[in-house]
Amino acid sequence: MKAIQVKEPYQMAVIDMEKPVIDSKNNVLVKIRAAGICGSDVGIYHGTNAAAIYPRVIGHEMVGEVVEVGENVSELKVGNRVIIDQVTNCGHCYACRKGRGNVCADLKVRGVHIDGGYREYMAVPERDCYILPDSLAYEDAVMIEPTTIAIQCCSRAKLCSEDILVILGCGALGSSILRIAKLSGARIIVADIIDDKLWEALAAGADYTINLENENFEAKVKEYTKGYGATVSIDAACTKDSLSELMAVTGNAGRVITMGFSVSPTEINQFSITSKELDIRGSRLQNKKFGEAIRLIEEGKLDLRGSISHRFPFMEAQKAFDFNDSKDPSIRKIVLTFD
Ligand code: MN
Ligand code: ZN
Repeated sequence: MKAIQVKEPYQMAVIDMEKPVIDSKNNVLVKIRAAGICGSDVGIYHGTNAAAIYPRVIGHEMVGEVVEVGENVSELKVGNRVIIDQVTNCGHCYACRKGRGNVCADLKVRGVHIDGGYREYMAVPERDCYILPDSLAYEDAVMIEPTTIAIQCCSRAKLCSEDILVILGCGALGSSILRIAKLSGARIIVADIIDDKLWEALAAGADYTINLENENFEAKVKEYTKGYGATVSIDAACTKDSLSELMAVTGNAGRVITMGFSVSPTEINQFSITSKELDIRGSRLQNKKFGEAIRLIEEGKLDLRGSISHRFPFMEAQKAFDFNDSKDPSIRKIVLTFD
């Protein structure tokens, strides 16, 4: 079978790979039908994802059709349409025992530490497969994965209706967070540097927007929160100084959620945390949130249709990544399609 492998940064190739066979552990064979291109895939391609191990078959937003099941499979059937969880964990370290396998001490993420979804077939454990809603085409269903990331950070933030949330950055990550945060009933302020994205945020239900190119972040948040500051802030920009900026705009007893992988130092001090008794919490990947995302779709609370802006056949992944590098302003989500 064919697969897309990143041999080292900027070296992407179509390779021949042995078609996987199922066994008692990886007991479901999935024929991949669509796979999204995510910022972290681009990071591995560019060599900026410190977690990546090369060479790697990338891709972690993968959906497909069950084509074979092992004897110990209880629920899934051949023909089921599924999305595959990208997180694999050891099951017995402290984090795993606490039910937080997404930060397992021996975490292995498909498409990052182990081979991912840019290939024709994957053999995976049944428990890592979630049946897709019938209403959702394969290509739109890749958006379930970014949705789980958004659900994870809102749950880490304990976001609720009395909160005033600041989302910094309204790219792919920020706009997914906005959709999920909306469901909590919280009031939402979105900050970005691109007017088009801010217009889209307003259309998607943001209450206020701030253009950081020409407006003062702290002053505007103060204005929109009657001087108090945000009660929750989520960093979907993940730049060098976004953490310190969010700590400044977050009010007393607030929560600040980090999602970035930046390793550039930024200046913070104890008083800015202690004085407000801020909770600064990381949110990484997602912790078994696929069921919740799928439930929201089935209940009609979330519509992922029409999210894909561009499609490429998976054999043309190089073209897709080159196009993504062009930073064309029309790019929202690119998906690789498989026959
Ligand atoms: Mn992703
Ligand atoms: Zn573990």
